[in-house]
Amino acid sequence: KVRVRFAPSPTGPLHIGGVRTALFNYLFAKKHGGDFILRIEDTDSTRFVEGAEEYINESMEWLGMTIDEGVKQGGEYGPYKQSERREIYKKYADQLVETGWAYYAFDTPEELDALRAQAEAEKKTFAYDMHSRSNMKNSLSLSEDEVKQRMEAGEPWVIRFKMPEDTDVQTNDMVRGSVTFNTNTLDDKVLYKSADKLPTYHLANIVDDHLMDISHVIRGEEWLPSVPLHIMLYRALKWEETMPQFAHLPLILKPTGKGKLSKRDGDKGGFPVFPLNWQLEDGIAMGYRESGYFPEAMVNLLALLGWNPGTEQELFSMDELVELFSIERVNKSGARFDPDKAKWFNQQHLVRKDDAELAELFQCELSEKGMKAEPGFVAQVVGLVKERVNFVSELWEQTAFFFEAPVEYDPKVVKKRWKGDVPAFMTELTVELEKVSSWKADDIKTAISGQIEAKGLGFGLVMNAFRLALVGGGFGPDLMTIAEMIGQDETIKRVNAAVE
Ligand code: GLU
Repeated sequence: KVRVRFAPSPTGPLHIGGVRTALFNYLFAKKHGGDFILRIEDTDSTRFVEGAEEYINESMEWLGMTIDEGVKQGGEYGPYKQSERREIYKKYADQLVETGWAYYAFDTPEELDALRAQAEAEKKTFAYDMHSRSNMKNSLSLSEDEVKQRMEAGEPWVIRFKMPEDTDVQTNDMVRGSVTFNTNTLDDKVLYKSADKLPTYHLANIVDDHLMDISHVIRGEEWLPSVPLHIMLYRALKWEETMPQFAHLPLILKPTGKGKLSKRDGDKGGFPVFPLNWQLEDGIAMGYRESGYFPEAMVNLLALLGWNPGTEQELFSMDELVELFSIERVNKSGARFDPDKAKWFNQQHLVRKDDAELAELFQCELSEKGMKAEPGFVAQVVGLVKERVNFVSELWEQTAFFFEAPVEYDPKVVKKRWKGDVPAFMTELTVELEKVSSWKADDIKTAISGQIEAKGLGFGLVMNAFRLALVGGGFGPDLMTIAEMIGQDETIKRVNAAVE
């Protein structure tokens, strides 16, 4: 059975890369009728950030990625938070020491710093690895008794993995194909720390993926270098046969295409990199939700960051993505994030929404502005202009004149259109408008056209002036429809107001 996990560390808000990883896991699980698991990897207590876990849950919920098993949802493989699984890991760390795959080390941070500094002075880099380990006075050169004594004396220790020498480790990554690493380039990573009685990411991750029956590990490319250690850990724990398959997703690149998209790009480029707002020390980092993106637009744009359907189609619902998604169509090369394209996705999803649904969203803003309007009327208004906006928040700018008379007139349009015979003509026009007995767009047009012809004026000039009176500027949907919708009295009132 397909079982995949999204395994974020609660070290802050999720960013686009994290959400994209979650989405690809979700799509893969649903495509194969599998389970999507949320596991919180919080073994690094120094990087713990208050509120991050709730943020992750809320983001998943907002985006419509239903979690089958997790801290909140529960499940048969729990607990799903690593800090609640401490007892589980110790056993495996011990096992690795007993079987000779790992060893105790008592180096203090100061001692390690000194070793690094000394190496630097000799223009080398220090690494705890197969070359240095046998000389290490605080680990492998200690006798069993010495280890015991130092532990009993209460000295803090760690367990390090003893990376075997010159071994080729090969994996068939579902995205990258066959990748081989040689262990000679790897160091002896810390697996467990007595100081906080917690495993490090590597050990906890492998133990949990195994115990939770994870079938596929789908994660960002930055984890690819960890694969040889992970494979060696599976081997050392004798779990290699049921080891999950790996898929490493391509980087998401800056809008310029140069370098990895980072949190800082969001602030500089004026686009969000977080799903939801996040309170930073020096202000609020904007999220997609609060910036007015629809969750379905965000899902759509994230899906195409590194995956393509192999067709020209660009717009997808979550259901379509589940149907079409395949890891084989995930690209190896980085995916450039394009903020304009992101807006385009939102616009496309906005246009596809029901007028009534959009009207409901828009009503909140209208009531904030103290405007009251019938739902049917708002829906009609929204239907007329929705092609012109990317976000619901842009609707007001395009439609204010439906709800209130213009408070000012665009000076440029005034200069160009409100001249010569126009003001006098407009005064006369109000008389004609009074006479229109059925206030429908066509009838209004007939009345105005008749008057223009009678006076021998330019049609365009008058219509633009009429628009200026009703709207306050040179924009908006079909003018006669506007007149019809705001009504006869209001139309005449606005023309009179403009004349004054
Ligand atoms: N906790 C890791 C992270 O924060 C998980 C990496 C993985 O999926 O193995 O990304």
